[in-house]
Amino acid sequence: MKFSAYLDHAATTPTRPEVISAIAEQLATGGNASSLHTVGRAARRVVEESREDVAKALGCGPSEVVFTSGGTESDNLAIKGTWWQRHGEDRRRNRLLVGATEHHAVLDAVEHLVHHEGAVVDWIEVDASGRSDAAQLRQLIERDPASVAMVSRMWANNEVGTVQPVAEVAAVAHEYGIPMHTDAVQAIGQLPVDFAASGADLLTASAHKFGGPQGVGVLLARRDASLTPLTHGGGQERQLRSGTLNTAGIRGMALAATLATEQLSQEQEKLAALRDKLIRGALDLGLDIRVTGAHEVGDVSARLAGNAHLRIPGCDGDSLLYLLDAAGIECSTGSACQAGVPQPSHVLLAMGISEDDARGALRLTLGHSSTDADVAAFLETLPAAVDRARRARSASRGGR
Ligand code: PLP
Repeated sequence: MKFSAYLDHAATTPTRPEVISAIAEQLATGGNASSLHTVGRAARRVVEESREDVAKALGCGPSEVVFTSGGTESDNLAIKGTWWQRHGEDRRRNRLLVGATEHHAVLDAVEHLVHHEGAVVDWIEVDASGRSDAAQLRQLIERDPASVAMVSRMWANNEVGTVQPVAEVAAVAHEYGIPMHTDAVQAIGQLPVDFAASGADLLTASAHKFGGPQGVGVLLARRDASLTPLTHGGGQERQLRSGTLNTAGIRGMALAATLATEQLSQEQEKLAALRDKLIRGALDLGLDIRVTGAHEVGDVSARLAGNAHLRIPGCDGDSLLYLLDAAGIECSTGSACQAGVPQPSHVLLAMGISEDDARGALRLTLGHSSTDADVAAFLETLPAAVDRARRARSASRGGR
């Protein structure tokens, strides 16, 4: 097989081999954790032990762990569940205060409430590095504290890796008795994530971003969190999330969470060194490349250790992505297509980057299986790909 460098760990990171073995063993054992017979009780034991492991890894109590199908479901449960509950209790609470750079799982849940349920959203803005300021949140709340249903601000951004001051945001929200949700999908495995210390009421996590399997995640929800469920049925997971539990996936996620937290400091050091090499190397190519967001060599607290985000003038990110892919380099533009048409990223636009500049975006993300060889292969391949992408763009514009 030809060499390929996987530089898209923010999309999904390979499942760790130990996790694959644990999942395979659990699938072979079987059992529904809600059944009362022997194999069902054994599955329940696995679920409850996994709950304890996840709680230990993420700094919360086992009873605060609600298993879900992943980040998208957890975000939807947090946003819609809180809005329905709090708005239902007091009709004046119709305002959502949400970061402008959130993932679509949060943004689209919010848009749904705005378009179908009469919610109003105020966006928490960001500076040029993608960071929000707790003082702006306070101003938004102060306009009318009694109208705020909830605050949602992500822990770290999936495109540009910017880390938010989550504890400050939670503290401001709590001064006014407002619940706070944080999407920590990209943070786990790259930053210490302690739910209790963060002060958040709700936290989203997804196993496939930290070495676990796809299709399983958690919503951490404080015992006093007020949530209306999205799904109804067997009443599993504190009546908040009905449905047969994915025992094998949960077992795999718990092991991945334990490994990710145990290995955090070595991993941060390794990833930051690779990231810095990649960014430095790209800037040294003389291709007029720009780095998005704050970048300081060795820093792992303002920007995720595994995130490099570049903007390459004169190129369409998508052409570059396909050219790099053909040469064995797997990466991302960071933003989504709508109806097959690439859209400039809402994250970059919120950071004050122009549409044209945002079109040349390339997201390169590193993880537990990344090596020096991946970075070297990318840097070797990039100049020819940029040259072809620039020529293609200029030809498509009639040489303009
Ligand atoms: N939130 C963030 C910040 C993400 O990066 C992602 C996935 O990319 C999600 C939510 C959605 O998670 P999942 O893929 O588990 O549905």
